[in-house]
Amino acid sequence: MRKEPTKWVEQTITGQVDENIYKDLLDQGYNENFVANLVAELGDEIFAWRIDFFSEQRVGDRFSVLLEREYILNEKEPLNNIRVVAALYEGTGTRNKKNYAFKFTPSGSQPAEFFDDKGKAARGLFLRAPFSHKSFRISSHFSRSRFHPIHRVWRPHHGTDYAAPVGTPVVAIGSGKIVRAGWHGGYGRCIDIRHNKKYMSRYGHMSKINVHVGENVAQGQYIGKSGATGVATGPHLHFEMHVYGKQRNFLRLKFPSTKAVAKKDLRRFETVVGQYIGKLNSAINMTNENLLMVAAHKTDEAD
Ligand SMILES: [Zn+2]
Repeated sequence: MRKEPTKWVEQTITGQVDENIYKDLLDQGYNENFVANLVAELGDEIFAWRIDFFSEQRVGDRFSVLLEREYILNEKEPLNNIRVVAALYEGTGTRNKKNYAFKFTPSGSQPAEFFDDKGKAARGLFLRAPFSHKSFRISSHFSRSRFHPIHRVWRPHHGTDYAAPVGTPVVAIGSGKIVRAGWHGGYGRCIDIRHNKKYMSRYGHMSKINVHVGENVAQGQYIGKSGATGVATGPHLHFEMHVYGKQRNFLRLKFPSTKAVAKKDLRRFETVVGQYIGKLNSAINMTNENLLMVAAHKTDEAD
């Protein structure tokens, strides 16, 4: 079949989180496939190492995305393919208030990737959460009301709980070697991944384990399904990060960035940042103005 000629058109997407990004974009009238693509791109690719949309998303957070959408020539409706150029997520529950991402192609034959406003690679040692947002419906999982911090029935709680329906796919937070894959007391079905001498991650209450001891896994690789095995008050993933053998609060730890824009590319990178940073911020501020206008309009109607 011959492929129709297409063109890519720049577009700005912006919004404020009412429940979650996914729902906010649907409410704005974007179609489901497009929204799913965009949310997966933001959650699993661009911000996967910086923001866990599952636990760090808050009502009132704002975002703007500059992207290109593909259109068949002379067609009015775009296809669902997108190319994100730059993005900004302003969150109150994220480690950094302003999270920038700019697509940049380093010199040499390296592929394009995302860097923050300081030129640090978006890609990191560990993902921000052991889930792939692509694999389940974000609409029902982003909500804060699903959170169950009541899970304190067994001794101090040395991990992070991610409420998730039994069977939600779990991924390796970073690359490493499987050092445990089986039943482990209160943890139920449990997986341990040794990342290096310093870090080990643990995944408890799993319903299904898809790896075996001795196997090497890549960052983001599917390792099994969440469940409620062992001592669990309800279906959730119990996640731990061990640093030199001790459990530490994963959400508070700072990890080194894997790389940064090379010195010789800095001037070119700064041009890219300069080209988009103003657009991202003014788009976000537009959100506020629009909301005020909507609020004012609603008041009028009430009269
Ligand atoms: Zn737990």
